[in-house]
Amino acid sequence: MTALAPRNASPAATRDRLGRPLRDLRISITDRCNFRCTYCMPKEVFGKDYQFLERSALLSFEEITRLARTFTRHGVQKIRLTGGEPLIRRNIEQLIGMLAEIPDLDLTLTTNGSSLAKKARGLKAAGLNRITVSLDSLDDKIFMAMNDVDFPVAKVLEGIDAAAAAGLSPIKINMVVKRGVNEHSIVPMARYFKQQGHILRFIEFMDVGHTNGWRMDDVVTAREIVDTISREMPLEPADPNYTGEVAERWRYKDGSGEIGVIASVTQAFCKDCTRARISTEGKLYTCLFATSGHDLRALLRNGASDGDLDTFIRGVWDKRTDRYSEIRSEKTVKLEKIEMSYIGG
Ligand code: SAM
Ligand code: SF4
Ligand code: SF4
Repeated sequence: MTALAPRNASPAATRDRLGRPLRDLRISITDRCNFRCTYCMPKEVFGKDYQFLERSALLSFEEITRLARTFTRHGVQKIRLTGGEPLIRRNIEQLIGMLAEIPDLDLTLTTNGSSLAKKARGLKAAGLNRITVSLDSLDDKIFMAMNDVDFPVAKVLEGIDAAAAAGLSPIKINMVVKRGVNEHSIVPMARYFKQQGHILRFIEFMDVGHTNGWRMDDVVTAREIVDTISREMPLEPADPNYTGEVAERWRYKDGSGEIGVIASVTQAFCKDCTRARISTEGKLYTCLFATSGHDLRALLRNGASDGDLDTFIRGVWDKRTDRYSEIRSEKTVKLEKIEMSYIGG
């Protein structure tokens, strides 16, 4: 199956209180990860004694697939598997195969790339359309300090090459930028991925969860990132591919590709936000910064019919008013938000 081109929301999609359709679904398939990125799963919190979810608490592949099918009835066109690290969920290829049978679905996945060299071909064969790989620097010292498990850059690059060779394209690379940590990696990363022909997307460091010690001072803004690159390799703005695209697109003036900036802190994009999230244990969240979710797993395990699921999902999305990034303040930053590794980035 080839990747579907991004589309605008279907007119029949369920809409929320602010008129936003339901279009994208992100599903966290594990809360575990082999990295301890300091901005996501800091070791002080996610240490040896941290209690991850029991296997029985996780949604099964059948449950995930049933929910995915249900959400497509409400307008979902794209599903992203995430986590935690999705590639450490056992037999993920089987899940991909089950989801790939859903018609007209753009199926993708975000990974830290650590096992991609081994898994890329199997994922493609199972029906995965595209992939996003996270990488925060090309400099081993910086990258190892950020993933905090001494994982080398070369192995992630090997994974990216394997994904390209397997035909999982277009490949997107996510780089979280944190001031005083990796802003000197912006230009080398841009240069490398421009040459490779992959789309590099810079993400402003966000106050997701409540354990990553977020401070506004640590955010390198999208504006600064674009200016920094543009001084060396001139950029110009490009139109969005579709309404509600998360990344703002910029293309190189020499015609050699594009980058994206995800400015969730400095240029909130809530007004077009079409994303729902399902956590590892089956709670539905209508915002990345939510403090509580809606229990889909209980419904599934209590024998809900397709009609019951439809009513529930419509009821939740109908009432949605989330626009966290637009109203971020000193007070909201301190809220006990759900951790990124659990709700899924
Ligand atoms: N483990 C996979 C990975 O790292 O690609 C998937 C899950 S991860 C939570 C999804 C994305 O969220 C990654 O690209 C990661 O860099 C990003 N992320 C995690 N914490 C973040 C934060 N505090 N601010 C901005 N992005 C963050
Ligand atoms: Fe793991 Fe991804 Fe979070 Fe890093 S960003 S700790 S790789 S889940
Ligand atoms: Fe969507 Fe919430 Fe992010 Fe706003 S803050 S763009 S509503 S996920």
